[in-house]
This record gives sequence, C-alpha cells and structure tokens, in this order.
Amino acid sequence: MKQSYDLIVIGGGPGGYEAAIRAAQLGFNTACIEKRVHKGEPALGGTCLNVGCIPSKALLESSHRYEAAKHDLAEHGITTGDVTIDIAKMLERKDGIVKGLTAGVAGLLKGNGVDWLQGMGKLLDGKSSEKQVEFAPLDGSETTVITAKYVILAAGSVPVDIPVAKVDNEFIVDSTGALEFGEIPKRLGVIGAGVIGLELGSVWRRLGAEVVVYEALPQFLASADKAVSKEAEKLLKKQGLDIRVDTKVTSAEVKDGQVVVTTDVKGEAKTETFDKLIVCVGRRAYKEGLLGENSGVELTDRGLVAVDDQCKTNLEGVYAIGDLVRGPMLAHKAMEEGVMAVERIHGEKVQVNYDTIISVIYTHPEIAWVGLTEEQAKEKGHEVKTGQFSLAANGRALAAGEGQGFIKVVADAKTDRLLGMHVVAAGAGEIVHQGMIAMEFVSSIEDLQLMTFAHPTVSEAVHEAVLSADGRAIHAIQRKKK
Ligand code: FAD
Ligand code: NAD
Repeated sequence: MKQSYDLIVIGGGPGGYEAAIRAAQLGFNTACIEKRVHKGEPALGGTCLNVGCIPSKALLESSHRYEAAKHDLAEHGITTGDVTIDIAKMLERKDGIVKGLTAGVAGLLKGNGVDWLQGMGKLLDGKSSEKQVEFAPLDGSETTVITAKYVILAAGSVPVDIPVAKVDNEFIVDSTGALEFGEIPKRLGVIGAGVIGLELGSVWRRLGAEVVVYEALPQFLASADKAVSKEAEKLLKKQGLDIRVDTKVTSAEVKDGQVVVTTDVKGEAKTETFDKLIVCVGRRAYKEGLLGENSGVELTDRGLVAVDDQCKTNLEGVYAIGDLVRGPMLAHKAMEEGVMAVERIHGEKVQVNYDTIISVIYTHPEIAWVGLTEEQAKEKGHEVKTGQFSLAANGRALAAGEGQGFIKVVADAKTDRLLGMHVVAAGAGEIVHQGMIAMEFVSSIEDLQLMTFAHPTVSEAVHEAVLSADGRAIHAIQRKKK
C-alpha cells in the first residue's frame, strides 16, 4: 500500500472494479478499497458477483434445466426416467462460478497494477485538492489515512428492510438468504413482485416449491410496457407463480417453525403460512461508514449521493457511481458510469446514454426492454406507431419449443425514429440489444425494415415487428382493407 494515489475507488463491485481497471489503463496510480468477505474470504465483485447477478443466474440455469428435463424432453421423444435434483450440488456449482469470477477480478486488478486494499474506506475530506481517505484493514491492523487527487465512491446498495417482515436469516430472508436454501421449501412466500421476486421466485418454483408473490401495487411490473406486463403476468401465472397484486403484507411472524403472513387485500385481512419468506421490496444506497463528518459530499433527499449526469458530486475531483446514485440499480449501468467517471477525470468528454440502458428480467421466457414504452412515448408527446410480432409465428422459436412471447417496437410516427423495443421471449436479454444498437445509431423503422435477417433465426421476429409497424409483416395477416 502507498500513502498517496492518483485515484482511490471505494467499493470493488462492478462499478468500482471497472473504474479501477480503466484508470490503470489510462496510467493512473490506483487503489480500490473493498471490505467484503464472502464465505470466509475477502472478495471483489460486489453485490453482483457475490450475491446478485451471477449466483442468481447460476440458480436460474440449474432450475431451468431441471424443469426442462422433467417436463420438456418427452415431446422430443427423449425418455429420462426419474429426474432428481441435488440441491447441495446445485449450490456448490453456483459457489464455484462465483469464486472463479471474483478471483478473476482480483487477477485483473493485480495484472493492471491496481492495489486492492482489503478493508473499509471512508472519505474524510473531499474538499481539498489532496483528498483524505481513512483505510481500516480487514486484518485488524492499524487504521491509516491515505490521500488521492481523485476519489470515486462506489459503495453500492443493500436490501431495504420493512418493519412488518424482519429478516431473521432463517425463516425470513432477503435475496442473499434466498440463494442459499439448503432444501426446497414446500411453501415459499415472496414480498415484492419486482425483479428479484420474479427471478428467485421462479428458481424455487421450478424446483418444486409452491410460490406466492405479494405485490403492493395494483399493476404488475408497473414500469414495463403494458403489453409486456400483461403477457409476462399471464405466462408466469400459467407456470404456477401465484402472483397477487394489490396485496399489502401487514405482518410476518415466525411461529412453530413456520412464517405466518397476514395481508390486507382491499381492506380484508388474510393469513397464510409458509416454510420460508423472501423479502425483496427494493434496495437502498449503502453509505454506512463511507463518509466522514467533514467529507463535504452532498446527498439527495432520498439518501443517495447527489451527482450530475457525468457522476460528478458537488466536490471537485469526487465522483460517485452505480447503486449509490440516481438511476436504475443495474450492474451494467454501474460499470459504464465507472468508466465514464475515470475518462472524465482523464479529460475526455464521454457521456453514458441513460436513454438506452437495457432492463432484463431473467425469468423464462425472459422479459427485456430498452427505451420508451408505448405509454411513456405518448406521455412525452410523440405521435406513436407500434409494431408487434408473436414468437408463435417464428419458425426457429417453434423449432426450439420457445414459441411464447413477442417482440414489440415503439416509434415516432412522424420521424419514423425507433424509440423503444420490448421483448418477452426466450433469450429476450440478447435480442433486445438489437434495439439498443439501433437506437444508439438513431435508426428509423425503415432502416431496420431494409435489412436482411438470417433465416431461420429468432431475430427475424425483430424484422417482422418493425415491418408490422407499417402494416407489412409477412408472416401475419396485415392486408389493407379496400
Ligand atoms: P455493489 O455491487 O453493491 O458493490 C459495492 C461494493 O462496495 C460492495 O462489495 C461493498 O462491500 C463495498 N463497500 C461499500 N462500502 C464500502 C466501504 N466504505 N469501504 C469498502 N468497501 C465498501 N443487476 C443487473 O444488471 N443484472 C442482474 O441480473 C442483476 N441481478 C441481481 C440479482 C440480485 C439477487 C441482486 C441483489 C442484485 C442484482 N443486480 C443485477 C443488481 C446489481 O447487483 C447491482 O446493480 C450492482 O452490483 C451495483 O454495482 P455497484 O458497483 O454500484 O455496487
Ligand atoms: P424492485 O424495485 O425491482 O421490486 C420491488 C417490488 O416490491 C416493487 O414492485 C414494489 O412495488 C414491491 N413492494 C415494495 N414494498 C412492498 C410491500 N410492503 N409489500 C408488497 N410489495 C412491495 O426491487 P427488488 O426486486 O428488490 O430488486 C432490487 C434492485 O436490484 C432492483 O432495482 C433491480 O434493478 C436490481 N436487480 C436487477 C436484476 C436484473 O437486472 N435482472 C435482478 C435482480 C435485482
């Protein structure tokens, strides 16, 4: 460890570690302070690699394969006999993937000459030109003060607690606990039909749990395009996720090894019992121990670190990124902000395009979108035209047994400009990147109509969706009435 750096990044999640690597590439003498200990070992990678994006996707993959082997292979003429799942093995696989990736990040920092300082970082003074950062090592050795010309705050987020359902890490858990169930709960309750509720609810339902998901809002997936939320709700309910919108949990108590949940449905109290309950009602910025009394960093009234569009705080040379600041709590948004902050410090005029941040919910089929929903486009005053194409008419999707869902495009009718793409489909998270790239290149619907898409691919449904925006999809009846 040196006493002075060009740049200190506090937090080694996707935002922080990418910032540190980019800084080293640009020649900055860089340290990244990360305090996380995961399964007994100091670990980089933040929420995303340790207890978020990656372990959840590992379990989604295992549970999907289990369900497919159990139910989907027979129609192909494949006989499997009894399909069983070894939960310990499934969790071991997940842990192995996490370990490999977090070790990989440690290797990347080392290879790039970034000092990983294992412990807690606190910005004591961000106002002077030499910023002061307190470093308290994990190994208990003496706390020191180190300095840097620039500081990037990348401390991430933690789950929101609600007083009506206190997490006890045994029966009532947050998303981290829900990645570790040692056996399949017979009955599983989930509070919050957001991204985590749908993904982790799906994992345990596929493995055999009866899953009830409580959502306080009257509208399912309120931030998605209405056509998408309607289709997703229909498909997920058909799979057996018991989604209850407009249902407020008023209490959750553990009695005789069971969680007794009381809800309020339009003024009527109901009680249900579960083996486990997951609380996933959002996340909040994590600032505990991050800012000294005289750090000088301004916060928003919602408790986030206040930043401008380039992630600059109110203090010269101090930036903040990722879940700690405004905008969606997504790993790819944190990563690009980290890179932007460093390149700005380096003097480059880069800007994250917040209009094209993709959202993906990794259920099956996946739910993904970029840009404006039809409703948002109308609210913004666009004269809107839309195109939609069902996967049930796409040969490749049908051949794969994945004919559920659709691709929808939203465009400005006057300028023909693509404003948004909304996908419910197996692989939606990949398909939607076509919309993102097209939007980045200010593509018109006509530009996309004039392109040749390979046959047979699911991407042809993108082509058909943009054709259908002008009533000219080939594999749908869109004949003009005379
Ligand atoms: P974090 O990843 O939270 O990293 C911050 C790090 O800073 C932490 O490791 C913390 O220990 C450290 N830290 C905090 N304070 C200090 C301090 N004072 N000193 C030293 N270190 C400190 N996003 C997606 O885009 N796709 C997904 O599929 C996805 N799946 C998710 C699944 C789950 C179950 C969860 C919980 C989240 C998921 N997310 C997903 C969200 C994603 O994990 C976050 O948006 C992302 O991790 C934010 O990155 P970050 O770098 O801002 O913060
Ligand atoms: P979320 O904001 O996605 O969903 C929380 C849901 O809980 C909302 O629908 C909200 O209306 C509901 N809710 C809130 N209080 C409630 C209550 N008392 N009773 C019933 N319902 C209630 O939050 P999350 O699912 O906890 O996820 C947290 C963050 O992590 C999200 O911002 C998300 O971006 C990120 N994440 C992303 C991914 C992904 O990109 N695939 C996966 C997991 C998590």
